[in-house]
Amino acid sequence: MEKIKKQINDLKEQLNKWNFEYYAQNNPSVDDAVYDNAMQQLIALENQYPQFKSWDSPTQRVGGFVSDKFQKIKHFNPMLSLDNIFDYQGLTKFVNTINDELTTSYDFVVEPKIDGLSISVVYENCKLKYAATRGDGITGEDVTANILTIKDIPLFINEAYKDQIVEVRGEVYLSKSDFKKINEGLDKKFANCRNAAAGSLRNLDSKITAERNLRAFMYYIPESKKLGLDTQSQCIEWLKQNKFVVSPIIEQKQSVDDIWNYIQTITSKRESLEYDIDGIVIKLNQINQYDNVGYTSKFPKWAIAYKFPAQIVSTKLLGVFVNVGRTGKITYTAELEPVALDGSIISAASLHNYDFITSKNIKINNYVKIYKAGDVIPYVFDVDNSHPSNHLIEFKKPTHCPSCHSALVSYEGVVDLFCENPVCKEKIKRNIEYFVSRDVMNIDGISYAIIDKLYENNIIHSEWDLYYLKDYKDKVLSLDLKIKDKMFNNMITSIEKSKHNSLERLICALAIKNIGINTAKIIAKHFKTYEQFMNATYDELLNINIIGEKTAKEIVDFFASDASKIIYQHINEIGLNKEYIIAGIDNYEHYLEISQKPENEQYFNKTVVITGTFSMNRNLIKHILEDVYHCKVTNAVTKKTDFLLAGVDGGSKLDKAKELQVKIVDKEFWS
Ligand SMILES: [Zn+2]
Repeated sequence: MEKIKKQINDLKEQLNKWNFEYYAQNNPSVDDAVYDNAMQQLIALENQYPQFKSWDSPTQRVGGFVSDKFQKIKHFNPMLSLDNIFDYQGLTKFVNTINDELTTSYDFVVEPKIDGLSISVVYENCKLKYAATRGDGITGEDVTANILTIKDIPLFINEAYKDQIVEVRGEVYLSKSDFKKINEGLDKKFANCRNAAAGSLRNLDSKITAERNLRAFMYYIPESKKLGLDTQSQCIEWLKQNKFVVSPIIEQKQSVDDIWNYIQTITSKRESLEYDIDGIVIKLNQINQYDNVGYTSKFPKWAIAYKFPAQIVSTKLLGVFVNVGRTGKITYTAELEPVALDGSIISAASLHNYDFITSKNIKINNYVKIYKAGDVIPYVFDVDNSHPSNHLIEFKKPTHCPSCHSALVSYEGVVDLFCENPVCKEKIKRNIEYFVSRDVMNIDGISYAIIDKLYENNIIHSEWDLYYLKDYKDKVLSLDLKIKDKMFNNMITSIEKSKHNSLERLICALAIKNIGINTAKIIAKHFKTYEQFMNATYDELLNINIIGEKTAKEIVDFFASDASKIIYQHINEIGLNKEYIIAGIDNYEHYLEISQKPENEQYFNKTVVITGTFSMNRNLIKHILEDVYHCKVTNAVTKKTDFLLAGVDGGSKLDKAKELQVKIVDKEFWS
């Protein structure tokens, strides 16, 4: 415990020092990634050991610093910072939280997170009255004289607003080329664009500020409702009409996958932009819903910042493998000289598509830059020209499927190539791999290697054949497949168990485009049975929040196809469950009521064990904890358990929790 306490104190001290360097001196001694990493560590430790959490911890403050050099200005509305996410899982969680809170339709606005200095500009009588830096979020520094030198910020807004006070927020930044120019003329150089921008804006001599050619993108109007603006996209339009400069790459998005694609696109464009960005901001578009979605003690819950990956490394590209995926899409994998990245050794990475390879002029034997998005596969995103490369070999565009050798097909407007052979072996095997995966039918113990063996030995030909595998035990054991008796039995148990999966897994298993497990969950909750979903009309589908026109059409087309009729036959013959299971259906209304308004923030995102009896069905409690509170519900009490939910007659788990000093919650906190 003493060790933990020391670790927390060290992190606090370190972060405070970096905060001071960053905000007060415009001269950080470490990269943002190092800072973020330390901050995440401290957050994790404080969550695990709340007894060491103190009010003055860097995690509890909005962050920032007000200098004595400038007049102070109190902000009309606090300038909150945003919570961070780092991967697809984080994004899904953010969208799910919003989905759980809202009953009306919604979408998102996504924009690059400019790596500059946040400012608030206030107009009175249509005229720029003053401008302030963010400071500590409550009080900022008066930088009006310097803001007046920035031509991207208009001095007047439309006359129509002469009776109102209008606050507009945005980011002041310096272009990469101006940054270079400025640094060339300085003895004590700025470390990066942001520091140069901050140093220039917070200069006491506005003549110097004027020479620096600062730019600004505006993106937020705190009291937009007063201007009759209902959505963030209307705010962006309003800003444009009033001659503010807004980022040209702001877009409107509907689903998690749309947003993730945008993140990928911007990540690959990042280097070619004229200004530094350090992430992507995702905002709920419907401003009138902000209060419903609410706030944590520190952040709004209706917006979040995706931060770019921590580490980028470069290594030599040794070769390119062509693969075909379950949808027939051709993918490209880089074979790399092994290199350490985010704590693991990497020797392969995704190369997106062929257009990407040619547009970046990537050749074999080049050095390439790679990063990890989330925690799965790393990506190549550019050539590293700082390394001289010899013997460059161009990688030729494939013409035939690497598995079945049929000619590849391309479609207008789509960059990818496809193998359209319906009996392409690799496609089928990859589809079975998808079917058994944790997010889909969740069948344990069946790896791609096992699928490959079973398929190549003519034991299975499709995912549906898995359910008849139990009849082939003798054959499987007699072949030298390194599948032993116990292993085989475990596989069968797992396969049989999957027959009782709730409907969303089956929907996901259909592999309809754009329908991952999260969308499938919402569909399953809505339709309750496979047949209701199967017979839904285009308009009925569009009524569901996260389903857009494209996805609705995909679904309708799928159920009109012959393939779907064969699948339906399989489902019935095998006896797969076709209903949305929420155990204790009699409590369903109560569940819905609870899921509309999860109130107890302290129970979010925890690892929980349940013991004893409650007034409500245990399975339903598990659903509430998992779906509403995003908790991980496990069976055994360990040191990693955040709390034990104890009903009447707790038994051995209760003893264990006491022994390990795990927090015990003995009330039904959700109801
Ligand atoms: Zn093929």
